[in-house]
Amino acid sequence: MTPTHYLVTGAAGFIGSHFVHGLLAPRENAAAAQVEVTALDSLTYAGDPVNLGPAWNDPRFRFVHGDIGDAPLVRALMRPGTVVVNFAAESHVDRSIVDAGAFVRTNVLGTQTLLDAALHSGVRCFLQVSTDEVYGSVEHGAWTEGAPVAPNSPYAASKASADLLALAYARTHALDVRVTRCSNNYGPRQHPEKLIPRFVTALLAGETVPLYGDGGNVRDWLHVSDHCRALWTVLERGTPGEVYNIGGGVQLANRELTGLLLDACGADWSSVRRVEDRKGHDRRYCVDDTKLRALGHLPLVPFEQGLADTIGWYREHRGRWDGGGAAAPLPAHS
Ligand code: NAD
Repeated sequence: MTPTHYLVTGAAGFIGSHFVHGLLAPRENAAAAQVEVTALDSLTYAGDPVNLGPAWNDPRFRFVHGDIGDAPLVRALMRPGTVVVNFAAESHVDRSIVDAGAFVRTNVLGTQTLLDAALHSGVRCFLQVSTDEVYGSVEHGAWTEGAPVAPNSPYAASKASADLLALAYARTHALDVRVTRCSNNYGPRQHPEKLIPRFVTALLAGETVPLYGDGGNVRDWLHVSDHCRALWTVLERGTPGEVYNIGGGVQLANRELTGLLLDACGADWSSVRRVEDRKGHDRRYCVDDTKLRALGHLPLVPFEQGLADTIGWYREHRGRWDGGGAAAPLPAHS
C-alpha cells in the first residue's frame, strides 16, 4: 500500500508539532505505518525544531526549512494524493496590533499560495486550521458555523481572509478544502508569549504577571491533543467545503484562569499587576461545536488534569523557557 503523504506547514510550532507526533504515533493513528510526513516551517521566533523531538529520527519524516509563500517550493512539496494541513501562521494577536504586515503576508498570501499549489498538484485534501476569533466577540450564546465572520484584531482578520479564500477555492474549483475554527489551546511546548505559558513561566521564576483590563475577558480552553484529535476527525469524516467549529467547553474569565495558575504555582494576587487593556480586546469567544460532535468527536482531556500536566511540563523544562516570560516583548496573552 502506498503511504499517504502529509504536508504539515508550521510543524515546528506549538500545535503543528503535536499534530506531527500524533501522525507518526501508532497509538494515536492506526494508519501511522502508512504515512509519510513533510514538515514545512520557516522557523520564525515561534518555531523551534526541538518541538519536533523524536520525529527527527523517523524515516517517515522529513523537514523542509521554507516559507509557505514560496510558490515554487510549496508546489514541489505537493503531489497527487497529498494531504495538506496548514498550521503555518503568525499567531499572536498583540503582535498583529503592533505590525500587521507579516500577518497578511503569511496568513493571507501564504495560504493563497498554498491553495494555488494544491489546486495544480491534485492534492487529496487541504485542511485550513483556523480560529474561533474569526467570528469576533459574542456576548451570550455561541457562534455556529453559519455565523458571518466579524473579526476585530488584525490577526483574526487575516485568519478570516484565509478561511474565505480557502472556501472560495472549494466552491470555485471543487478543491477538497475543510476549515476548522478552534478555541484557545493550551498544553506543553506553547510559546511563552501566550497567556498560560507566559503566566506559568513568570510565576515559576518568582516574577509578576500582567493581567489585561478588568480580567473579565472570557476564553474557551481546549487541550492541544484534543484539538489534534478533532482535526483527525475532520480529515477522516468531514465533508469537503465545510467549516467545523472546535470548542473546549471550559469557559473561563482571564481572572479566573489567573487564580488557578496562581494556586498551582504557589503564588497569590500580589504577583499580578493590572495593565491597560489590549486595544479592541474581544470580550468573549464561544463556538457551538455540535456539527463536529455529530461526527463522533469528544474532547478527552479534563481541564484540571491537562492544566496540571502542562504546568508540570514547564516546571520540568525550565531550561527551555528560562526568562521567556519576562523577556517576551509584549504585554501578554493569547
Ligand atoms: P505557533 O505560533 O506556535 O506556530 C506557528 C508556526 O508557523 C511556527 O513554527 C512558525 O515558525 C511557522 N510559520 C510562521 N510563518 C511561516 C511561514 N510564512 N512559512 C512557514 N512557516 C511559518 O502557532 P500555534 O499556536 O501552533 O497555531 C497553529 C495554527 O493554529 C495557526 O494557524 C493558528 O491560527 C491556529 N490556531 C491556534 C490556536 C491557539 O490557541 N494556539 C487556536 C486556534 C487556532
